[in-house]
Amino acid sequence: MLSLTGTPERWNDTTVDACLRKVPGRVSRRLLEVIASISWTADLDRYSVHAMARMVRQQGGLRTILSTRGGAQDSLLVEGVGTLTDRLAAELGARVRTGHRVTRLVRDEHGVTVHTDSGTFRAARTIVTVPPPVAARIEHHPPLPADRAALERNTYMGSVYKAVAVFERPFWRDRGRAEFLVLDSPGRAVFDTGSPGGPGHLCTLVAGPEARALDDLGAEERRQALLAPLVPHLGPGVLKPVSWHEKAWHLDEHAGGGYVVLPEPGTTEGISPLPHTPLGPVHWAGTETADEHGGYLEGAIASGVRAAREVADALAAGVPR
Ligand SMILES: Cc1cc2nc3c(=O)[nH]c(=O)nc-3n(C[C@H](O)[C@H](O)[C@H](O)COP(=O)(O)OP(=O)(O)OC[C@H]3O[C@@H](n4cnc5c(N)ncnc54)[C@H](O)[C@@H]3O)c2cc1C
Repeated sequence: MLSLTGTPERWNDTTVDACLRKVPGRVSRRLLEVIASISWTADLDRYSVHAMARMVRQQGGLRTILSTRGGAQDSLLVEGVGTLTDRLAAELGARVRTGHRVTRLVRDEHGVTVHTDSGTFRAARTIVTVPPPVAARIEHHPPLPADRAALERNTYMGSVYKAVAVFERPFWRDRGRAEFLVLDSPGRAVFDTGSPGGPGHLCTLVAGPEARALDDLGAEERRQALLAPLVPHLGPGVLKPVSWHEKAWHLDEHAGGGYVVLPEPGTTEGISPLPHTPLGPVHWAGTETADEHGGYLEGAIASGVRAAREVADALAAGVPR
């Protein structure tokens, strides 16, 4: 039996795809492929077994990753994650400035100058929360040390497409549940993400190359391709959502994709959790730096708390002054 968390480092050259190709039985192979793809959004021929095993450990084990009740999918923010950040920003007021893309960070003995495409800011310390492959577009002066530069070079973001179909009511609950792993192409996961007493929400996730293939379809063709196979299970009503919201996260230049940073096979810099030793006045946060629950909001929050403490301690110690 394969012990995932004890996978030796020499498996860093073996891809998940190569491993799955040895699984006997087409359906079992495809099932594992879809589960792996949806869980980590990697291109499976570009994701090593060692990296996957380390990610499983960081995310609390396979049972936690795949479970709803008591697991990673246990809770839902009823009004959506955006409302959480919007309300936090409202409390902080004018101190939060959005729409300033950071292009360059210049470190000196007194702090850091943050150049954006619409102005310059001066700070004693700064926290970069952008995942390394996306942060690679930020220039540094003096240049980054070799290990951080390699981290930005040898990692990539997964590809993921998410759609939510909204219905007046979750009509499928009259007969049962609406949770599917669809093995036909595109492989996908479908979840009932409606809140108690609210309208019906059916969420679809497609990941990896199959998510990118959806980019070539027109909006209507894509919606049909994703909803039509559900008709035998949920009835024809599933083809008539009152609204349809979709996003290809890999096409968002600021997110770069999702859910998390992935290392190129054979490289080690991007193996979870990512290093975060401050570089002078520059600190690093982001879900991928969390010791636990990397790739989730929980990891992002934990990393933010850790980085904020680092900054507070440095300022209290008068470093740098
Ligand atoms: C489709 C999808 C579904 C997900 N589902 C779940 C889920 O069910 N549960 C869960 O816990 N997690 C989920 N996640 C993961 C979750 O969204 C991430 O773990 C979390 O957002 C990571 O937060 P972060 O602060 O580390 O990074 P990010 O959220 O990526 O924040 C980085 C920020 O930096 C900004 N930025 C980028 N470049 C620059 C620049 N040059 N200058 C200034 N700003 C810049 C970006 O715009 C972004 O706002 C999902 C992710 C995706 C894509």
